[in-house]
Amino acid sequence: MSGFVICPACGTRIKAGREHCLKCFAILPRPDEPVRVPLSESLGLSKQSQIVLGALGLAVVGGLLYVILTTKSPTADADLLPPTSSGASGSSLSAGAISRLRGGPRTTTTC
Ligand SMILES: [Zn+2]
Repeated sequence: MSGFVICPACGTRIKAGREHCLKCFAILPRPDEPVRVPLSESLGLSKQSQIVLGALGLAVVGGLLYVILTTKSPTADADLLPPTSSGASGSSLSAGAISRLRGGPRTTTTC
């Protein structure tokens, strides 16, 4: 029941059926015609484009994160693989420390 027409010139609500605005006498659109939503206005388009761009960015970031995570896991496993080399190096280090200790404390003076 849209019995009113909004004057495009001054924005006054005019009863439908009148051809001219009561305030400014501007020509009123027909009541049968719904208020034209300007499709050419960049508001809607820009909003849609922004949404699309945001979705694309999210997808790209998600894909990058997924790739990074999936490629990082095998390298971490490889790093955890070699257990023997660390033990050998530890033993050699302990041997060197023992030899140093033997040569070092010779300066102790005994009565
Ligand atoms: Zn008017």
